[in-house]
Amino acid sequence: MAGINVKLFEEKIRSELATVEKELTSVGRKSPSNAADWEAKPDAMDIVPADPNEVADSIESYEENTAILKQLEIRFNELKAALGRIKEGTYGLCEVDGKPIEPRRLMANPAATTCLKHVNK
Ligand SMILES: [Zn+2]
Repeated sequence: MAGINVKLFEEKIRSELATVEKELTSVGRKSPSNAADWEAKPDAMDIVPADPNEVADSIESYEENTAILKQLEIRFNELKAALGRIKEGTYGLCEVDGKPIEPRRLMANPAATTCLKHVNK
């Protein structure tokens, strides 16, 4: 790949992946049936407080976790996919036109799959 230092981006991706995975394990756990899938920790639901307000709080925190988890999971899979493209030798190429993605775009988002022109394809 001319122009970009794939190694540098791979390091960026791996370090972000480690961060995301750490955050994922704090709000969720890997699905036992599908390793690529994460589910929110049901812990909060296991507690059965006598106070109805506490029940509401624990449901709320479960829903919050689910929302956070969804975002993290999307990012996790994007980063994983980017590593896959590095392996295949297609990293840094726009998936719309196959042209090299601008290095500044990759600096901002090393998991980018399109060039600036095709951001909103
Ligand atoms: Zn493009």
